[in-house]
Amino acid sequence: MAYLNENFLKLKAGYLFPEIARRVKAFVDQSGGSVDGLIRCGIGDVTEPLPSVVREAMHKAVDEMGKRETFRGYGPEQGYEFLRSAIAEGDYRSRGIQISPDEIFVSDGSKCDTANFLDILGGTNRIAMMDPVYPVYVDTNVMNGNAGDAGVDGRFGNLVYLNCNPENGFCPELPKEKVDVIYLCYPNNPTGTVASRSQLERWVSYARGCGAIILFDAAYAAYVSDSDVPRSIFEIDGARECAVEFQSFSKNGGFTGTRCAFTVVPKSLEFTTRAGERHSVSALWSRRQSTKFNGVSYIIQRAAESLYTTDGRRQVAELIEHYMGNAAILCDGARKAGLTVFGGTNAPYIWVRNPDGISSWTVFDRILHEARVVVTPGVGFGLQGEGYFRISAFNSRANAEEVAERLQRMIW
Ligand SMILES: *Cc1c(COP(=O)(O)O)cnc(C)c1O
Repeated sequence: MAYLNENFLKLKAGYLFPEIARRVKAFVDQSGGSVDGLIRCGIGDVTEPLPSVVREAMHKAVDEMGKRETFRGYGPEQGYEFLRSAIAEGDYRSRGIQISPDEIFVSDGSKCDTANFLDILGGTNRIAMMDPVYPVYVDTNVMNGNAGDAGVDGRFGNLVYLNCNPENGFCPELPKEKVDVIYLCYPNNPTGTVASRSQLERWVSYARGCGAIILFDAAYAAYVSDSDVPRSIFEIDGARECAVEFQSFSKNGGFTGTRCAFTVVPKSLEFTTRAGERHSVSALWSRRQSTKFNGVSYIIQRAAESLYTTDGRRQVAELIEHYMGNAAILCDGARKAGLTVFGGTNAPYIWVRNPDGISSWTVFDRILHEARVVVTPGVGFGLQGEGYFRISAFNSRANAEEVAERLQRMIW
């Protein structure tokens, strides 16, 4: 008999997006098989086509792969030097942050990197995560056996939940107890809010004080427009001693289907054995990657590199301007509908408070049935998300405008 990993059975049934899909399908079926003008603002996937620089870089790389002299087989597991250098220079050194190419690990996605990182962490860590939260962090810890059992409220017994709400500006207070691993995501999915420099400084100082590691997800870094809002945890002094950073080309370059991302692991970052012996995190991550991963396709790495050229930067800026233009329209529409709105200025998500006393799924159903718009119920991201819904700005301009109007036409 083959036995299964019983941790998988602890995952909460009815993961958020399948439940949304089920409700949308039921509505469509009940409407006779199609709903005129149904607009999806639910899943955080980009909608606009790949920039031309990216397509040109891919075509060129495909041609190189077609000639014996320039054909490439297995590449370095950590990523090609050309891309790691472009990242270190373009995202860090040019902005005064000391990150070298050999601290960059190229991968096929931040979702996988955040999950895979658990391979090199021990099993007895106290793990803290924000609530509401990107569900991947919770579920991967459940699968690994780090989370314990779920209570009646759905929270896992061994996780430390860091509440994020309007009172703390959606940046959690430091935990009262000592934790070892802290997930932070800024700009934040789902709330669309950011952390200030002083808030991140407090977290870095906390982590250094107790030897904790911060897993910093900066997938939306490119959406930051305020110059005083940090785009990287490494803008904070001391972060090289306590943090890793996950970045992705999914949301800036439109690579959700193309797949390329990277993780920054500073050489100076260490963790310890139970006996107190210190080891390099970078060495373990490198070992993990070279054993379980064979790198990202050459063609895709050339495509990612093109985002750092002058034309690439301009085209990324245009994509972001498009989505953030949508965000402004959606924020405005929701406000005019009388709702309280958070986020949406440095991130492509709008976090909207429900009218008093109405639950997330009730509001989800009402927006679906009355406005024919699919949003994401806040409670799907954690207990603290109850009473909110998320609108994604990843859409066409026409759809964003239409959603903004329909929200105003609803009787709230
Ligand atoms: C979209 C997203 C990512 C990116 O994931 P990929 O696997 O690189 O596509 C990472 N973190 C968060 C919070 C996201 O929303």
